[in-house]
Amino acid sequence: MKTNKHTLLHILSITCALCAAPIAALHAADAAKPAEPPVVEPGPPGGPPSDAIVLFDGKDLSKWRNAKGEDARWRVEQGHAEVNGTGDVFTRQEFGDVQLHLEWAAPAEVKGADQGRGNSGVYFMGRYEIQVLDCYQNKTYPDGQTAAFYGNAAPLVNVCRKPGEWQSYDIIFHAPRQQADGKVAPGSFTVLHNGVLVQDHVPIKGEATTSAPLKGITATAPLTLQDHGNPVRYRNIWIRSL
Ligand code: MG
Repeated sequence: MKTNKHTLLHILSITCALCAAPIAALHAADAAKPAEPPVVEPGPPGGPPSDAIVLFDGKDLSKWRNAKGEDARWRVEQGHAEVNGTGDVFTRQEFGDVQLHLEWAAPAEVKGADQGRGNSGVYFMGRYEIQVLDCYQNKTYPDGQTAAFYGNAAPLVNVCRKPGEWQSYDIIFHAPRQQADGKVAPGSFTVLHNGVLVQDHVPIKGEATTSAPLKGITATAPLTLQDHGNPVRYRNIWIRSL
């Protein structure tokens, strides 16, 4: 009898070990599986998708302020906002890493040359400028032309439309980060201009670009559109925090 009992226990322990191994493997496989992605309604071509924050839908600039914190005063008409000499505008909300879509148009009436033609800009965190400029048959320095990371990186190609025509930017921005050891981990820019890749994961070392309204490394800050004195237009601006 004693032998039988031992034999039974032995068989049981082997059976359990055989069961446990596949069950453990099954749990490990479960843990390794990615979570099911949330459903996002893509919206019309050009967005906004359902999880985006709409910063400007063509009606008003209520999501924007000026440098003093007062309501933004750029002219809003016919579904767009136009730079009018009242200064840079800042989002009331602050952002860190983001995906941004916006559309802009340089003035149809061509005035000025070089950096003086249809100049504006999109400053991420009020610090890092992706240049807005009319570079359709308008020469300037490469790291200051349309879709340049101003002063840092020229675009891969010049894919400008004619002045007065609407153009799109789709931009993935990762902010530079202050580390515990005092060093700055670089961020990055990836930019599509009119659907064409122009900045491919370009590093952002942390130094604010020329004429940036804000400076210093921070976790979140407002998105800024530049008033460079040229009547550049904007429409369909939306953003997704990453
Ligand atoms: Mg500019």
